Amino acid sequence: MERTFLMIKPDGVQRGLIGKVIQRFEEKGLQLVAAKLVQITMAQAAAHYEEHRDKPFFGELLEYITSGPSFAMIWAGEEIIQVTRAINGKTNPVEAAPGTIRGDYALRKGVNVIHGSDCLESAEKEIANFFTHEELACFLYPADPKEGMTT
Ligand code: GDP
Ligand code: MG
Repeated sequence: MERTFLMIKPDGVQRGLIGKVIQRFEEKGLQLVAAKLVQITMAQAAAHYEEHRDKPFFGELLEYITSGPSFAMIWAGEEIIQVTRAINGKTNPVEAAPGTIRGDYALRKGVNVIHGSDCLESAEKEIANFFTHEELACFLYPADPKEGMTT
């Protein structure tokens, strides 16, 4: 099953949107594989946004993403990248369609509630930046949670 890295950014966590955001992915039929609150370090932030290091907003971006706890998640499902990025909406919340997370909950490009990996390869890199092997191993539960139960 394909998986992706999604993260509720500090503004989303601070505004109490974790439950609402999770609900959207659950209702879509995607599977939550791992999740935790993280205080992102500068080093993790710089690695996560490496592709943007030459952009004028890079410093601002690192400051924002390390400004408070974020909620890091791994989700699995078919066409996971396309599906989750569609649910997140366009990067600029002004252009993001109503009904998307950014379209409904954000106003500014620099403060846009959620991150979603842009391809399967970046998803794996981002997962490795935020989750340990041990954390992932404990989430390898059977597809049917009742499997193996005798009573
Ligand atoms: P994403 O993949 O949709 O998150 O967008 P990008 O990969 O292009 O940018 C990464 C993140 O950088 C965005 O989600 C924004 O939080 C931030 N960002 C992008 N463009 C700007 C900008 O012009 N100004 C600021 N302050 N932040 C930006
Ligand atoms: Mg991106």
